[in-house]
Amino acid sequence: MSSSTPELRFDNRVVIVSGAGGGLGKAYSLFFASRGAKVVVNDLGSGLKGEGSSASAADLVVDEIKKAGGEAIADYNNVLEGEKIVEKAMKAYGRIDIIINNAGILRDKSFKSMTDKDWDDVMNVHLHGAYKITKAAWPIMRKQKYGRVIMTSSAAGIYGNFGQANYAAAKQALIGFSNSLAYEGFKYNILSNAIAPLAASRMTATVMPKEILEALKPEFIAPLVAFLTHEKCKQTGGLFEIGAGKITAHRWQGTEGVVFKADESFTPAAVKARFDEIDNFDNNGRVYYPASMKDNDWLGKLEEAKGL
Ligand code: NAD
Repeated sequence: MSSSTPELRFDNRVVIVSGAGGGLGKAYSLFFASRGAKVVVNDLGSGLKGEGSSASAADLVVDEIKKAGGEAIADYNNVLEGEKIVEKAMKAYGRIDIIINNAGILRDKSFKSMTDKDWDDVMNVHLHGAYKITKAAWPIMRKQKYGRVIMTSSAAGIYGNFGQANYAAAKQALIGFSNSLAYEGFKYNILSNAIAPLAASRMTATVMPKEILEALKPEFIAPLVAFLTHEKCKQTGGLFEIGAGKITAHRWQGTEGVVFKADESFTPAAVKARFDEIDNFDNNGRVYYPASMKDNDWLGKLEEAKGL
């Protein structure tokens, strides 16, 4: 850090961090508190698969924050009762500036063996939990014309992953959720971004080699989350992968594509005949990067088809 770049601070900002009893959420909470924020440390203290509960996870993080001279309260509500978390934050601090939707569980199984409960529980904690907290805080943020939201996605959500159909579905959904909030919140200075982190935690302890885990400290995700939620940051609707100190921004890419005449010649066989062109991402760089639904330019395509 050069001395000419002042550190970003969060004095008097109120932050809700869900699932903050350990791993990434704990790292964010400690970081925000060390920069002057008032932190609502939410965690129901469940096991990795969502089993059980314990107040001590959140309490320990709050104790650590207070010992370091910071300000925080513990909250033990399930994220599915997000309105209670928001209510608690409002009672304690009177506003909510930042929401870090971070709570999560895993129920990894092949799709063949996945039960309805494995599906529902994972969708509920990640997606419905983020919905419930954000929904309850939305009118507050709109009214105060200020808000910063982070949705925690995952590489599994962006790309899909073997044994994670439930988790990947929830994590991809959070990207669409974040992007839509980016549109609706902009006018009210509410910005929303999604991150796909990679960090050593109990969630990754069994799926990665020890030497890699040692290089992936959860603390190394906090700088991006803090930047994206700072009052000076204007970024919204973004998706960022981050791990081991490297941050990349992600967007969609479309091929140049093929326009078919919409008449009886437009058959499955016609699609088959030109499928390699449809799917050609190497077309001398003739790809495009749609950033919104408008970039699809359906009317332009219709005009092209008429000219065939
Ligand atoms: P973690 O298991 O250490 O943290 C998750 C926390 O969420 C736990 O403390 C747990 O008690 C809490 N939680 C679970 N269900 C809850 C509920 N219903 N209400 C409130 N709290 C609840 O795991 P982590 O690695 O720190 O993961 C944090 C987030 O990052 C998760 O959303 C995870 O999917 C995501 N993520 C992590 C990685 C990684 O490499 N660690 C990669 C991609 C995404």
